[in-house]
Amino acid sequence: MDQMTALIEELNRRAPQLELREYEPMSRHTTFRIGGPARLMALPATQKEAVAAVRAARELGISPFFLGNGSDLLVSDQGFDGFIVKTTGLDQTRVVNRRLRAESGIPLARLAMAAWGQGLTGLEFAHGIPGTLGGGVTMNAGAYGGELVQVLTSVTFLNDAGEVVTLPVEECALTYRHSLFTDHPEWLILEAEFELAQGVPSLIKIKMDELAQKRRSKQPLDLPSAGSTFKRPEGYFAAALIEQCGLKGVGIGGAQVSEKHAGFVVNRGGATADDVRRLMELIQNTVYRETGVTLEPEVKFLGF
Ligand SMILES: Cc1cc2nc3c(=O)[nH]c(=O)nc-3n(C[C@H](O)[C@H](O)[C@H](O)COP(=O)(O)OP(=O)(O)OC[C@H]3O[C@@H](n4cnc5c(N)ncnc54)[C@H](O)[C@@H]3O)c2cc1C
Repeated sequence: MDQMTALIEELNRRAPQLELREYEPMSRHTTFRIGGPARLMALPATQKEAVAAVRAARELGISPFFLGNGSDLLVSDQGFDGFIVKTTGLDQTRVVNRRLRAESGIPLARLAMAAWGQGLTGLEFAHGIPGTLGGGVTMNAGAYGGELVQVLTSVTFLNDAGEVVTLPVEECALTYRHSLFTDHPEWLILEAEFELAQGVPSLIKIKMDELAQKRRSKQPLDLPSAGSTFKRPEGYFAAALIEQCGLKGVGIGGAQVSEKHAGFVVNRGGATADDVRRLMELIQNTVYRETGVTLEPEVKFLGF
C-alpha cells in the first residue's frame, strides 16, 4: 500500500467526517486558475479535524502543505504529488472584550466585515485582499498603509511537534511579506487575535468602499492573477520598474504583464504555470539588466 492510501485509511478511521479529495485540480483552488492535480486534499471543517489530519500525516512521514485561498500561489502544471490541507472550512470569529478572535481560514474580506459589524475599526485595509487570515498572517498582508502586524495581538498554531502554541505578535517576526511562519512552513496557523478600536460603523464602511474603489481603478480585477507578482524592492516600486523596461502588456502563452498594472502577471486565458514562470524570469532578467534591481517573487511556488 502506498503512503497516501495508508493516510486515507488512517484519516477515514480517525476523522470519518473529514472531506478528502484525490487528484484534485489545483486550478480550482488558486486565483491564477492554474495548477495540475493535488494527489490528496483534506478540507477540514473544524480545528480538531485539521489537527487530526496533520498529526496522522506526520506519523506516516508526510509533510502537509497548508492552503488558504491560493491567492498568492503558483502551482505547477504537473500538480503536487503530496498532501494539502485546505483551511477555508475554519472560518469562525468571536469577540471578547473588544478583542476579535478568528480562525485561520476566514477570508480577510469576511474578517473585515465582522469587525465592521461589531463597530470595530482597524481592519478596513484588509477588506480587498483576497486571501485568508492564515495566508495573510504568513505574509503580513497589507495594503494602503495598513498591515496585519498593526492590529494583531497573538497567533495560535500547531507546531512541528504536534503542540498547539500561542505566541504574542511581537514574537512572530512579522515584517514586509515575511514572518516566523514563512520560515516555518510546517506550522499550521489555527487562529489569530486582534485588538481593534471602537469606531463609527458608517465611517468604517465608507473607508472600505473607498479602498475598494481605489483597487478597482488600479488593479486588473477582471482577470485571474495572484496579485503583486514581485515584492517591493527597497527604494523602488516593482510595477514602475517593469513599466520603465517596456514590459507592460508583454506576454508568453496565456500569461501577460497586465496592461492596467505592470506589477500583476495575469492569466488572460489558458495560461499554464510554465507560461507564468517563463514570463516572471523574463521580467526579472530584463529589469536586472536595465536597472540593476533584483526582483524577488512575492508569489509562492508549489510542485516545481
Ligand atoms: C487580486 C489580488 C490582490 C491582492 N492584493 C494584495 C494586497 O493588497 N496586499 C497583500 O498583502 N496581498 C495581496 N494579494 C496576495 C494575497 O491575497 C495575500 O498574500 C494573502 O494573504 C494570501 O492568502 P491566501 O489564503 O490566499 O494564501 P495562499 O495563497 O493559500 O498561501 C500563501 C502562503 O501562506 C501559507 N498559508 C496559508 N494558510 C496558512 C495557514 N493557515 N497556516 C500556515 N501557512 C498558511 C501557504 O502555505 C503559502 O505558503 C493579492 C492577491 C490578488 C489575487
